[in-house]
Amino acid sequence: MKIGVLAVQGAFIEHIRKLQELKVETFEIRQKKDMDQSMDGLIIPGGESTAIGKLLRDLDLLEIIRNKIQTGLPVFGTCAGLILLAKRVEEGTVHLGVMDITAKRNAYGRQLGSFSIEENFEGIGSIPMTFIRAPYITEVGENVKILSRVNGHIVAAQEKNMLVTSFHPELTDSVKVHHYFIEELCNKK
Ligand code: GLN
Repeated sequence: MKIGVLAVQGAFIEHIRKLQELKVETFEIRQKKDMDQSMDGLIIPGGESTAIGKLLRDLDLLEIIRNKIQTGLPVFGTCAGLILLAKRVEEGTVHLGVMDITAKRNAYGRQLGSFSIEENFEGIGSIPMTFIRAPYITEVGENVKILSRVNGHIVAAQEKNMLVTSFHPELTDSVKVHHYFIEELCNKK
């Protein structure tokens, strides 16, 4: 099992630590040639979706990553990663545009920029969730499974090989969502 972590901007180190905790081999993706390595899954971290999207274009990574996901590479996007994967974005730009969801950027506004909560995640149970200027999902296509809601808003979902959370599981002390990604998406590929 080997997971690539997109490491051009944002909270990638925290994802690498979670994978190490799970004894999963991992490597950073910083440039096009890093995509030559074989991998069982890819993580797109939180950060700033506009900045990550621009870097993906500048580094010539956008097409190759989109292609790998569309041909079945398991991917897990957190926060900005969710926005990058969405086919439709409110208050923002579409980047990879592969997952049949509508993401609303900075959906919690400025007042409630950051907060933590415990909520239920389908198939896992109650877990801590940390939100930082987070998006949420306002609309899902028919093949998208909703995995979690907070205050009525969709904050986690899965469509085939794609998993997204609007919160940051890598900033909590739980490894359960990473474990779910490895077991349910990467191992069943
Ligand atoms: N607000 C950021 C964006 O729109 C996402 C924040 C995050 O990833 N923590 O890209």
